[in-house]
Amino acid sequence: MSETMKAAVLYAPGDLRYEEVKIPELGENDVLVKVTACGVCGSDIPRVLTKGTYHFPTIPGHEFGGVVTELGEKVRKELLGKKVAVIPLIPCRTCKMCETGQFAQCENYDFLGSRNDGGFAEYTRVPEDNVVIVPEDVEEDAVAFLEPLSVALHVVQNCNVKYGSAVAVYGLGAIGIFIAQWAKVFGAKKVFAIDLDEKKVHIAGEMGFADAICSATEDASEIIKEKTNGLGFDYAFEAAGSGVTFNQAIMGLRSSGILGLVGRPAKSLEIKEETFEKILRGQITVKGTWSFEFVSFPHHAWELSLQALQNGSIKTSPIISHRMSLEKTYEAIRIMAERQEFFYKILIKP
Ligand SMILES: [Zn+2]
Ligand SMILES: [Zn+2]
Repeated sequence: MSETMKAAVLYAPGDLRYEEVKIPELGENDVLVKVTACGVCGSDIPRVLTKGTYHFPTIPGHEFGGVVTELGEKVRKELLGKKVAVIPLIPCRTCKMCETGQFAQCENYDFLGSRNDGGFAEYTRVPEDNVVIVPEDVEEDAVAFLEPLSVALHVVQNCNVKYGSAVAVYGLGAIGIFIAQWAKVFGAKKVFAIDLDEKKVHIAGEMGFADAICSATEDASEIIKEKTNGLGFDYAFEAAGSGVTFNQAIMGLRSSGILGLVGRPAKSLEIKEETFEKILRGQITVKGTWSFEFVSFPHHAWELSLQALQNGSIKTSPIISHRMSLEKTYEAIRIMAERQEFFYKILIKP
């Protein structure tokens, strides 16, 4: 095998170079993953363009998977040649939060694609414990969706969505559309899928969301009021990170409703007086969620996500808008930052 590979390497904010680098060397518990697909996450835009990573140079990309092509000395032999998804979070496994299995809250974690090299590369070094074997009948590109799928699962589980409930999802990025799908899996009777982008709303409609609403052209709160007999919904999910949708989500909730927050704000948000008042009088619960879970007991979120892909209750392919080569990683990020053309999930295919 050659000693070098191609990768998109970040040297400074705005300075992402497609270049030849050394193939990473493996520790005894690592595997080498030949990346077949890596999703570009909304968080990669500020990471690559403005905020940067924790140190430079770093290879970004944290939504990825591929095929295991090499094993460290102590790794289980059966992993060789397997199709895998990669869990980008590497918890320290020694801090208090790790001791209680709350890896997403680890005080000293490593992360492939921000703190360490990630998936915008031909190969990535991954600890054995961070690969999840993907069954052969799951489509190849789905390996790039296990991360956002598990994030979405975490949000829905954290808010305890119940059978028969009415749910509204504000913001239909990958995580938003997956939250909408999980809500159905958990038995929600009505799922309002709301976005400003008409095309995303159209795709959501084609994916079976009869109550997909384009808030640029329709009055979402009026429609929802009518369809919930004036009561409002039981759960709202804010997956846009915007003040407008935060206020709308709160105002649309029934009394004692639950708002799950998952979208990351790009700037400070205004909470309107009436919204604040509604949280008080309506005794609204606002729940923050972060990252995903991957404890092996009682359920491994990534395994549950794989099962949902296998049985068809969650679909990923309708939201793939672009498949681009590794060389075009910077272009992909610019497409997302500049919003000149329609995009949904952009996959980098090294
Ligand atoms: Zn992400
Ligand atoms: Zn820890």
